[in-house]
Amino acid sequence: MTTYSPGSRVWLEDSQEGWIPAEVASCTKASADTFTLVLTDGDGKETTVTGARDSLPHLRNPELLESADDLATLSHLNEPSILHAVQTRYAQRKIYTYSGIVLLAVNPFEAVPMYTPEIVQQYIGRTKGELEPHLFAIAEDAYAAMALDGKGQTIIVSGESGAGKTESAKLVMRFIAAPKSPRINSDMNSFVDGASQVEQQIQATNPILEAFGNAKTTRNDNSSRFGKYIQLLFDTNRQIVGARVRTYLLERSRLSYQTQTERNYHIFYQLCAGLPADELKELGLDADYSKFHYLNQGGPSSTELSDRDKFHAMRDALGIVGIDAAKQTSIFQLLAALLHLGNIGVTQTRSDAVIEDDDPSMLHAMQYLGVDATEFKKWTIKKQIITRSDKIVTTLTAPQAVGVRDSIARFVYACLFEWLVTAVNESLTGKYGDAASRAETYVGVLDIYGFEHFDKNSFEQFCINYANEKLQHEFNTYVFKLAQEDYVKEKINWTFIDFDDNQPAIDLMEGKLGILALLDEESRLPLGSDASFLQKLNTQLDKPANKAVYKMPKFANAAFTIAHYALDVTYAVDGFLEKNRDTVPEEHLTLLTSSNNAFLREVLDTALHRVSAEAADPPSPGGVVSKIPDPGRTSLAGTTGRGSSVKKPTLGSIFKGSLGTLMDMLRMTNVHYIRCLKPNQHKMAWEFSPLQVLAQLRAAGVLETIRISTAGYPSRWTFEDFARRYYILIHWREGPPLIKREQFKRLCVLVVQKAAIDKSRYQMGETKLFLRTGVLATLENLRSAKL
Ligand code: ADP
Ligand code: MG
Repeated sequence: MTTYSPGSRVWLEDSQEGWIPAEVASCTKASADTFTLVLTDGDGKETTVTGARDSLPHLRNPELLESADDLATLSHLNEPSILHAVQTRYAQRKIYTYSGIVLLAVNPFEAVPMYTPEIVQQYIGRTKGELEPHLFAIAEDAYAAMALDGKGQTIIVSGESGAGKTESAKLVMRFIAAPKSPRINSDMNSFVDGASQVEQQIQATNPILEAFGNAKTTRNDNSSRFGKYIQLLFDTNRQIVGARVRTYLLERSRLSYQTQTERNYHIFYQLCAGLPADELKELGLDADYSKFHYLNQGGPSSTELSDRDKFHAMRDALGIVGIDAAKQTSIFQLLAALLHLGNIGVTQTRSDAVIEDDDPSMLHAMQYLGVDATEFKKWTIKKQIITRSDKIVTTLTAPQAVGVRDSIARFVYACLFEWLVTAVNESLTGKYGDAASRAETYVGVLDIYGFEHFDKNSFEQFCINYANEKLQHEFNTYVFKLAQEDYVKEKINWTFIDFDDNQPAIDLMEGKLGILALLDEESRLPLGSDASFLQKLNTQLDKPANKAVYKMPKFANAAFTIAHYALDVTYAVDGFLEKNRDTVPEEHLTLLTSSNNAFLREVLDTALHRVSAEAADPPSPGGVVSKIPDPGRTSLAGTTGRGSSVKKPTLGSIFKGSLGTLMDMLRMTNVHYIRCLKPNQHKMAWEFSPLQVLAQLRAAGVLETIRISTAGYPSRWTFEDFARRYYILIHWREGPPLIKREQFKRLCVLVVQKAAIDKSRYQMGETKLFLRTGVLATLENLRSAKL
């Protein structure tokens, strides 16, 4: 029990702070295998704890190690120590910390002077350990690795909403896309003036995708409602030649419904604030958007001015990616049509839904959509069921008709988003793919929603957490492989260490008889329902074999629980089927695809074609990019053509497919990780809420992964670093000598002998010394006693 001797530093659990520092006053044996510790905290208050060894308080690191650049160098690797290190650094305005191969980034919530041209210069050409931890170091690392042998690289940016993923991803892209050969003189501000066309196009993707795919939510005023993977493409000279972007699972429900504290997609407010009065009038719009149902459910736009500025920036960006003024007008027309669609009045007589023939919103909407109003009305208030022998037409209730109306708006919007992504890609890869065909290698940046758990979790959270579970699996495997390689390279003896594998949870979700499969099965039944889906889940999955990952919750009845790697999440089944099917009625699809608005037809063609092509073949890059593997043509459209013979892909199966391709692709690359952390919930600069950060560290599996990457021997020091720090422990008769390189290893041996470190607690590798947990703390104590 030497570790708990009087004076030892420990962490005392605290309900407010997580943990508070304390010292051991005394330690006595209470029984054969329990001990009693008397602890004093900073205020001199005494606390007594009794327990078995592994239930006693966590040990605190020596002060010198406490705010280390790299958490992997901590001697005591426990949650309180990690949290403390991140917190201490944040208080010193150091927002970045390494955790093995991961960069932790805590959101500063205010502009920090960390991305200036001078700082960019500093990081160019430097290796990761040379300077303070930084996003740029990770970006440079990825670029250098790509430049070295042409291997593809991926930087995965994760974290919860508002943690800073998108901002980080943009900074990383900016750093990497900057011209490489004249890099020494390159200037971060030159993106506007001197930037190459390619760079400009890459930068232009941001305002476009953010206008159409971001919205204000309670957690982030500029929340991305889709996942994004951007590949920056380089030629043999390692010069950037283009880029390619893939998006994942745009949130659709937001188009027709927002809570009072959130907003619809930015583009609508931008349009109303930015379009000249005469153009607005032509579209039946108004600078005052509050008359539109799709915009007045949510919160107000407190930033009208910035909406207007953003509109102009977005318009310029559209121009840069080659979407000309005429196309822009067509886009705005479609957006206006959707707003009018949402205002179509649906009333009810007795049991039937009614829409007036001269409903002005309907007439407006149909004018811009190029669809016949009579037909539209008919199939919004009626439904046709085709059986083998019959066509039965029934009437809908008003809420059902509203449901149809809204599903059309969501569908068209989702297709428009797809079309935009395609257009952006055409510009980024060169319209005929010439840029892309010159590409030899790439650096990809993945900006994807982190693990989510709310009071109520639905299909969206299920998909997001499914993605995170897959990413975590890749991460574990990768980190573990790296750790293993290090042991082999250093030729040290070690035994294979088991780590918590999350494959069972993945199987539960995507397996042959897993949740997604059962959901698809139920979604294809004409009379399928959320309730019978749940019933299926419980009969198929509530088995002893799944005990560790699948649970029927005790208190919620229309729900199921998955034990994710991060924590248990209970999903309410309500809405799963509808969201997975995500269809518009066939009759409406026919109306839309035969619209006399050529642009709408093009939009639908683009979106629908992609999906049907994907359903038929493995994803093909559309004949554009040759050498570079494609992260998966994604999303949507939720329906294919009119032929009833074509199986409609469900949203779940589309997502599963694109995720699968993404994972294949990640496996072919070197991966680099940035985990963004949100220090508090109210977006306050420099405020750090320990319990909230702790929850995120847990959800990101930070501790777990440090443990994997350092399993067995958490501390690794090069002989040189170790010898330089600890040679003073050796008794030098004539004062410390001048150390020669070839003596480093020998000195290390002397140090561990002198400090009486047991042989089982360290190993000498080829270039490094491997230490078990706690050894470094002992050495530090000896060292400070010497000083
Ligand atoms: P996420 O994509 O994870 O949801 P964002 O990247 O949109 O989060 O960041 C949310 C907000 O946090 C940004 O709008 C910005 O105000 C702030 N922020 C994030 N990263 C930084 C940073 N590096 N410096 C300054 N502010 C930042
Ligand atoms: Mg984002």
